[in-house]
Amino acid sequence: MKIKAAVLYEMGKPRPYNESNPLVIEEVDLSNPLQGEVLVKIHAAGLCHSDLSVIDGNRPRPMPMVLGHEAAGEVIECGPGVNDLKPGDHVVFSFVPSCGHCIPCMTGRPALCEPGAAANAKGTLLSGGVRIKN
Ligand SMILES: [Zn+2]
Ligand SMILES: [Zn+2]
Repeated sequence: MKIKAAVLYEMGKPRPYNESNPLVIEEVDLSNPLQGEVLVKIHAAGLCHSDLSVIDGNRPRPMPMVLGHEAAGEVIECGPGVNDLKPGDHVVFSFVPSCGHCIPCMTGRPALCEPGAAANAKGTLLSGGVRIKN
């Protein structure tokens, strides 16, 4: 399906950003949810300092990348194996995905998930895949 996204193609553009326009709002292709994934209709998304750290190059990530991980929305489709969410559920996103099985996850610190941080640095989902193409 076609979605609208804030895409960063190049880190380190000069400030002020209202002149260099580092983000491009454009249509991209989003594939259907696979095993353990859900499709969420975004109702609101913000840009935080983590996004800004990618924009200014202090937190390098593979390019291009869609920014705006601090989002809230509604589940509209569940992939295979999703048993704890259903269409209509309201959800929020986080900067790092959590696997639920590593030591940080098992000790109540999912924001420090080790596989989640590795996937985040590579710009992939926890499964290793990418669902957005432009
Ligand atoms: Zn954030
Ligand atoms: Zn984990």
